[in-house]
Amino acid sequence: MISRSEILSTLSQYNESDIKIGTLCSHSSLQIFHGARREGIPSVGIVLKENKPYYESFTNALPEMFLEVQDYKEIMTDNFQKKLISENVIIIPHGSLVEYIGAENLLERFRVPMFGNRLTLYWESDRRRQRRWLKEAGVNSPTIYENPSNIDKPVIVKLHGAKGGRGYFKASNSQEFFTKFNELRMRKLISSLDDIIIEEFIAGVRYYPHFFLSILEEKNLPGLDEGRLELLGIDRRLEVIDEIHRGLPLIIEDYLDYTVTGNVGVVVREKYLVDLLRYAVRIVSSARKLFYPGLIGPFCLETIYNPARGFIVFEVSARIVAGTNLYPDGSPYSTYYYDEPMSMGRRIAKEIRRAVNLNSLHKLVY
Ligand code: ATP
Repeated sequence: MISRSEILSTLSQYNESDIKIGTLCSHSSLQIFHGARREGIPSVGIVLKENKPYYESFTNALPEMFLEVQDYKEIMTDNFQKKLISENVIIIPHGSLVEYIGAENLLERFRVPMFGNRLTLYWESDRRRQRRWLKEAGVNSPTIYENPSNIDKPVIVKLHGAKGGRGYFKASNSQEFFTKFNELRMRKLISSLDDIIIEEFIAGVRYYPHFFLSILEEKNLPGLDEGRLELLGIDRRLEVIDEIHRGLPLIIEDYLDYTVTGNVGVVVREKYLVDLLRYAVRIVSSARKLFYPGLIGPFCLETIYNPARGFIVFEVSARIVAGTNLYPDGSPYSTYYYDEPMSMGRRIAKEIRRAVNLNSLHKLVY
């Protein structure tokens, strides 16, 4: 794994008066470029050649510079990394960057300074490791079945990695599990039980709150060791299964699909904000213990609210999530922290700008 000291040594050669924010043109990049513009920081868009005209057409979210690639693999080449470093680029990791380049490549071979703590990639990329993080935090999370023969209630079966729900299936008992599991094995989509995780299916309403942790600011909530925690928005994902009613009275098989296709904005009953903030503080504290300095910047809790059990966290995304794209001009929550429109993309740029002014960029980068 590339060490933090190696990255900080690269950063120490940066010209901080010419810092640029860079990311892959995908996922939440328009918001990142738009936010950087609002904070007066130039940005660099790494773009697939064929996608460039489309990205160029969003004139208020134009990066100052495009770096074209034919294939995302080019990003890992020595020359490309050198180019990013010579332009003083801080990379903002988002879900597509991690998916296309791969967590392992980023951890082992990507020498460009990234915003946040890259150790989160290690802790997120394996669902069992991630579960340890949730357990340490002491937040409610779904039961995991290590042995499929013990399945005694409805379960959701997931593949590893951020697949956006693709390929997931539900089973009500062991027999149904094995039928579906064997089917996927025959289609060579999985090879063994190690490729999946079997999780208790939670009935309830999904909420995906987006948080930002600033370690440059004063502590603002009980339980935090340091830093200011902000709730900048909440979304709910739109998955194919959400439209299952359209086929009624039939249950059309194709609708039994958890693939994420978009997001909608939501607010929770105000009294639940306290629960969400308490949970976020616990996740921040356990991250700090497990992989110091823990979380830096944006993260999201993926939760389901069940009236009998409260919020149940089934995943943490330790970076900007696509649901934040709903709020380029701020959200119903960001308004309570900022008098100006504050998207997550802009909040990241603001933090980078402040760190440069405080001579503290090294605290936010790995
Ligand atoms: P991403 O990394 O983009 O979050 P993913 O591949 O990790 O995607 P999940 O977020 O774990 O996928 O799950 C996809 C969807 O499956 C969720 O949005 C939710 O609708 C459903 N889901 C996940 N876990 C559970 C659960 N324990 N009970 C009920 N539904 C669940």
